[in-house]
Amino acid sequence: MPEYKAPLRDMQFVLNEVLDFEKHYAQLPGAEDATPDMVSAIMEEAAKFAENVIAPLNEVGDREGCRWQDGVVSTPTGFKDAYQQFIEGGWQGLAHSTEFGGQGLPVSMYNVVYEMLASSNHAWAMYAALTNGAITTIEAHASDELKQAYLPNLVAGNWSGTMCLTEAHCGSDLGLLRTKAEANSDGSYRISGSKIFISAGDHDLTDNIVHIVLARLPGAPEGVKGISLFVVPKFKVNADGSVGASNQVSCGSIEHKMGIHGNATCVINFDGAEGYLISPPHKGMSCMFTFINESRLSVAQQGQEASFQTALAYAKDRVQMRGTVRKDPTKAADPIIVHADVRRMLLTQKSLAEGGRLLNYFCAQQVDISHSSDNAEQRQQAETLLALLIPIAKGFLSELSLEATSNGVQVLGGHGFISEWGQEQHYRDTRITAIYEGTNSIQGLDLLGRKILASDGKVMAPFVELVQSFCRDNSGHALAQTLQQALEQWLALTDKIGEKAATNPDEVNAAAYDYLMYSGYVVLAYFWARSSVSAEQALQGNSDEASFYQAKQATAQFYFERLLPRTDSLEKTILSGANNLMDLEEAAFNF
Ligand SMILES: Cc1cc2nc3c(=O)[nH]c(=O)nc-3n(C[C@H](O)[C@H](O)[C@H](O)COP(=O)(O)OP(=O)(O)OC[C@H]3O[C@@H](n4cnc5c(N)ncnc54)[C@H](O)[C@@H]3O)c2cc1C
Repeated sequence: MPEYKAPLRDMQFVLNEVLDFEKHYAQLPGAEDATPDMVSAIMEEAAKFAENVIAPLNEVGDREGCRWQDGVVSTPTGFKDAYQQFIEGGWQGLAHSTEFGGQGLPVSMYNVVYEMLASSNHAWAMYAALTNGAITTIEAHASDELKQAYLPNLVAGNWSGTMCLTEAHCGSDLGLLRTKAEANSDGSYRISGSKIFISAGDHDLTDNIVHIVLARLPGAPEGVKGISLFVVPKFKVNADGSVGASNQVSCGSIEHKMGIHGNATCVINFDGAEGYLISPPHKGMSCMFTFINESRLSVAQQGQEASFQTALAYAKDRVQMRGTVRKDPTKAADPIIVHADVRRMLLTQKSLAEGGRLLNYFCAQQVDISHSSDNAEQRQQAETLLALLIPIAKGFLSELSLEATSNGVQVLGGHGFISEWGQEQHYRDTRITAIYEGTNSIQGLDLLGRKILASDGKVMAPFVELVQSFCRDNSGHALAQTLQQALEQWLALTDKIGEKAATNPDEVNAAAYDYLMYSGYVVLAYFWARSSVSAEQALQGNSDEASFYQAKQATAQFYFERLLPRTDSLEKTILSGANNLMDLEEAAFNF
């Protein structure tokens, strides 16, 4: 089975040659330590950890899965040792405040590291990702006292975190949730209710687990406007910060599921557990978005790279039939990479993995700015860019990771379907990314309804300005010209949907998913055009890595000619309207 290799050269290209992270960090308050040397050193160390420690556990985790016995959850062989090494390496605190023992590096650095963790072992990496989200949420919203009680151990990695939203009767519609919180006389709350599908909800990796829980206070308004946010530890925390008595939090069972077997997906029961309010009363949903947005961005990175690497290695080695140009007359056949259709699959994988990386790191750059810039206008602009781009990064990239990992199976033919090469595991593991953190339908509704139409398109303005200014600056570049047209068509389509929705509210729901995909193709075109221009500049400087940059240009060309045109068909589908979905009577679905 081919081993995961962190794509450091491509990561450096994105960071240094396209997105100019050196300048970004030089201008970002508090990012003084993120010098180019430091960034490279961290990436190399993270690559070693991902390649040597957790990638070898990927298959074991899938095969063994987690176990639940007598209410106790254990993770697969090797997971705990790897987690210990992660803690000892200080990785959990990489991008968290030095006040609580972290290294204080920018959030985007964590994103780069997380890509390697998630690509090498999706299930294992989720334990770290959820802890990261819990830390950020507590830091943003909890009292100083709670921060002191929880953050040092979370940042050190001794304790882990979860997000507890979903209940049996409510997933997409959190307004229905029933878990309740009643005040105790000492300022704490009694939390009662049952949460399902809680990733990393219970396990044996850390001494304590800190749940970030949505619940209702007595007399709370109905719906999402009546939800509050709490911290609820598995074990209570003593005054000196040590782990105390059990807290009426138990794991009722774990799920048997399609993929990510190494991550425990738990029913977590709160039976009057002691918890602490961290949002203003009834304002928990907006605080929870601190966690949700971070998680959505990390989801966007899960799954594609490892599948591509295996498919590529296999396609260079496996010989079947002759290509149009006989490559090796001494062999009975040519490697399958000579065939155009195999190239179609590989280039789709390559353009999505590398283009997705660009979109993701760009978003991470905006998270840095929104957290740390001393310029209020820049912070606002970054937040607006993220409001638009996070549902696209999560929804579009995860949806296409299903196609990419399916291609990864297909390139290997029958050998992709059997377990030996790991391709079917990537395909199964990746499937969840279109579902959790809000299904992709919900991402589409968020993008089109809640963000774009509700703001009368204003949320698009900073991104549109970026694309237009890029197209102006590179007006002689063929890809920039195509991009300008794609942008104009996207904006015109948005107007048309707005007009249709004004007379028929079903149009928004009917268009949302396809519109999400349409938007994703245009957004990725912007990043591939930037990539191509950066490669062109490098080539003009007589680069000794000509073939690397030429490959970038060829991949950009492929993306523009073979994936971007999918917008034409999406446009037709969207404009066909809601009636072809809504007219069929419910009973008639059976006929
Ligand atoms: C492995 C795994 C890990 C998870 N981890 C966590 C976790 O750590 N914490 C947590 O809180 N939750 C977690 N979840 C839950 C996950 O976020 C939910 O499953 C997801 O949000 C969907 O909710 P649901 O399953 O109840 O589906 P439903 O909400 O019942 O949706 C069913 C279908 O209806 C569609 N739908 C619903 N409403 C609309 C609408 N208005 N318009 C169009 N389509 C709609 C959905 O898109 C979906 O296709 C996890 C789930 C799994 C399987």
